[in-house]
Amino acid sequence: MINIDKVVKVGGSLLSSGKDYINVAERIRNEFLENGSNIILVVSALKGVTDKLIKISEGKTEELKDIEETHMRIAYEIEDREAEETVSKLLKELRAKVYSEHITQGKRSHVIQSYGEMMSSALMAGAFRAIGEKPGTVSALRGIVAKEAGGETSIDYERTSESLRNEISRLERSLSPIIIEGYIASLPDGSVVTLGRGGSDYTATAIAGVLFIEEVYMITETSGILSCDPKLVKRPKRVERLDAVEAKLAALYGVKRLHPRTLEPVEALSIPKTIIIRSITGDGTKICAENGCTSDGVKLISVREHHGEHEITVIGKNSSHEALFSIEKTEMFSLAKSLEIKSPHILQIVFSETSSISELVDRIHEKLIWGAQ
Ligand code: ASP
Ligand code: MG
Repeated sequence: MINIDKVVKVGGSLLSSGKDYINVAERIRNEFLENGSNIILVVSALKGVTDKLIKISEGKTEELKDIEETHMRIAYEIEDREAEETVSKLLKELRAKVYSEHITQGKRSHVIQSYGEMMSSALMAGAFRAIGEKPGTVSALRGIVAKEAGGETSIDYERTSESLRNEISRLERSLSPIIIEGYIASLPDGSVVTLGRGGSDYTATAIAGVLFIEEVYMITETSGILSCDPKLVKRPKRVERLDAVEAKLAALYGVKRLHPRTLEPVEALSIPKTIIIRSITGDGTKICAENGCTSDGVKLISVREHHGEHEITVIGKNSSHEALFSIEKTEMFSLAKSLEIKSPHILQIVFSETSSISELVDRIHEKLIWGAQ
């Protein structure tokens, strides 16, 4: 098998038009292919498509027209014959499945959703051909094997290692990049499953894990992970670095743009060694596998609503005692329903008074992230 050295994942938020696909293909060529990298490119469905496919699977079949028009339009915009043909074939299959009573390849919703990633992969391959490259495609439904346990779907690393290597070795060696769908996989009995919203991140790190690829790039609309939801705070700060423990906590506590299982391959397989989350042109957040690669201190603040209460989780290596200490000295302390040190890395604050929550969050953020008095 050819020596692949990077996994690059492109988020659906970047993909809304033919121009977007061409732009992404050009950037990836310039940054990675022209520098001698062999990459696997993981693609998500076009922006908004997974939401629509879910609605369709729930019976809102009128959305199908829009899915058809958008994908055909983008295929024309890319000006690649093969992409047009593949997309139109996939759309026919999708339509047949939407109107059939019995779907045999897996649960209805998963089968229908899988078309979003399959069409996006075909479009991405078309975009690379349109700029003069020779991409190869691997089907995630053949290469990525999932398992179900306790109502949860996860990637079976052992089986995936074998089937993915198999699929890649069938490709002609000169093809590059190798494109595969994120988010979708098959169970051993062949039924189609999805990996949970935002699951392409997990596909990307799992591929890196099973193929021993040390670096993963997640290309998104934003430049990396922010210290807090920008809708809640005035001055969100880009997080420069997280170690594996901090990143895992961030994913678990619902920090945006991190699928909860993204860090699982790092833990289970000690690979990938770095995950870089960034925009197409520039800066981002680097997640490193070793635990000593960041300094102590608060990195992130996640806010979640729970039965009308707001749970604020402050995350950062060995930061919780100090964070508690600095909050204790402010009036926020008396407004909180509870403050709890959950571990050396996590402080949790609960507010039941919710009308002024964004103001409270902003003040905590200013204090703990920017060190305001
Ligand atoms: N398209 C899927 C979703 O929107 C997977 C992904 O974007 O990673 O959840
Ligand atoms: Mg998506």
